[in-house]
Amino acid sequence: MSEGDLRVFAGYDRDFTEEADAVVVGSGPGGAIVAGELTRAGYRVVLVEEGPPFTPGDYEVDGGLSMARTLREGGLRTTVGTVMPTMQAVALGGGSLVNSAICNRAPEFVLDRWCEDFDLSDTHLSDLDPHYDAVAETIGISPTPEAVQGRRNLLFRDGCDALGFSSEPIARNVRGCRGSGECFTGCRSRAKQSMDITTVPAALRGGATVLTSARVEAVETSGDRAIGVMGRIVAPFTGRPSHRFRVRARAVVLAAGCMATPVLLQKSGGIANRSGQVGRNLQFHPGVGVMGIFPDRVEPQFGATQGYQSREFLEAGFKLETLWAPPALLAVRLPGSGLDLKRRLADVPYSAVWDAIASCDRSLGRVEARRSGFDPKITWRLNPDDTPILAEAVYRLAEIFFAAGARSVLCGVHGFPDEIHTLEEAEILRRRTLRPSDLVLGGNHAFCTTRMHGDPTRGVVDELGRCHDLENLWIADSGVFPRCPSVNPMWTIMALARRTALALAERL
Ligand SMILES: Cc1cc2nc3c(=O)[nH]c(=O)nc-3n(C[C@H](O)[C@H](O)[C@H](O)COP(=O)(O)OP(=O)(O)OC[C@H]3O[C@@H](n4cnc5c(N)ncnc54)[C@H](O)[C@@H]3O)c2cc1C
Ligand code: SF4
Repeated sequence: MSEGDLRVFAGYDRDFTEEADAVVVGSGPGGAIVAGELTRAGYRVVLVEEGPPFTPGDYEVDGGLSMARTLREGGLRTTVGTVMPTMQAVALGGGSLVNSAICNRAPEFVLDRWCEDFDLSDTHLSDLDPHYDAVAETIGISPTPEAVQGRRNLLFRDGCDALGFSSEPIARNVRGCRGSGECFTGCRSRAKQSMDITTVPAALRGGATVLTSARVEAVETSGDRAIGVMGRIVAPFTGRPSHRFRVRARAVVLAAGCMATPVLLQKSGGIANRSGQVGRNLQFHPGVGVMGIFPDRVEPQFGATQGYQSREFLEAGFKLETLWAPPALLAVRLPGSGLDLKRRLADVPYSAVWDAIASCDRSLGRVEARRSGFDPKITWRLNPDDTPILAEAVYRLAEIFFAAGARSVLCGVHGFPDEIHTLEEAEILRRRTLRPSDLVLGGNHAFCTTRMHGDPTRGVVDELGRCHDLENLWIADSGVFPRCPSVNPMWTIMALARRTALALAERL
């Protein structure tokens, strides 16, 4: 096994061409797993990542500054239609650098429905379990220990216990977590097992070349085959383009994420789109956050960023979890301004924030390339039939807060009191029909823009991630999900990507 080559922006001084067995575009959970598995199988791999690598010294703990450096469009990307912020990372490791390391297997009932509705035969939980297990070993997935939960997380458990709702410590890909609550701005203690410190180094040890600050701008094809990719070196944080590069390869794997992969296909002459499904079927897990204020100090900044969850309501369409984020970002969600806002901020030490992510598979959207640049136009609408799911999720969070002893709850719903003091006041969430615009949403889990389908006229890739139209073009990011998974997606992205990598390794 030879040591690979990690290239960074300062090291590029001319145009260049690389040769490989496989080129993998994107180093997030999907791409990094594919690169690791292919190098392990002995193939020569070039992994291309538009973002730079980050070290602990590069992280900004200020939320705004951090977003400007690690996220697309400075963290201000939103959907149009129903306006909802959506975050995608631009960094070695992709979303795993900024995420909370929550790992959930997709529920059995979800995968069974995928198989039934999308002509799939081998994507049941029992088919994916070996891949989930292998990934867990690689990135150290284990339940969050009590020692690093902090009061914010344990209050959630207490509230669930009081109501008889199931709850559990969240399984996360961390080793030696100190409960600093800083997952979003980057783990300075290197406890979070993000791709840049796990699967990418494994690929490098297996001999891979990793090009960072390298933006792929097109997939090159000849007839019905992909022959490689071409692109530009781009400066970290500004994206200013400089040298040109090409990678010639026998197989191309796109794992640029569910927003970027369809843009690449569209900008490559509309390839892989005989089904007409590229960029369509976009789904999210729209999320809502609720704050509870307790009579005594919670000190919510201490404890694993997201340490506890409840899967009690998965079949009703939502999952509940605890949350922490930099106060500057939480402030955006608080009502009021001036002195009123200052008073609210003074409550933060007494508060906890919990959130719900919802399965809204009637709420669909689309990703389209713009004429210039690589940022997508993202259109998405929350279907009015899905709003009751979110309203019920807010109600349940309020219920758990009061059961845990909160003195008041800030539901964050327009046209609803800023702060309520009894659960009875929350009943209106069940009686009144909310409009999508009444909810303050966020959606960082995105799916389905190159969905898998057994029928080539209805999907972009097959069950293994291979494009129906080009036999050596594969996709290994969350775009291949046929429908939202109802739980945090990273582990499933990696399990599917591992299956894709093993299938590709057999055919290379
Ligand atoms: C703040 C936040 C918290 C989250 N928390 C969790 C969590 O706790 N658990 C969970 O399961 N999920 C979580 N998610 C979602 C999860 O991180 C994503 O679903 C996951 O990272 C998607 O993986 P991916 O491989 O599909 O794409 P990405 O992680 O987006 O990776 C794609 C990579 O491709 C690169 N790229 C894009 N275009 C190009 C190009 N043209 N050329 C070269 N490179 C390119 C990108 O820079 C990026 O690094 C969170 C997301 C966010 C934003
Ligand atoms: S809670 Fe803190 S120490 Fe633990 S993984 Fe997140 S950032 Fe790292």
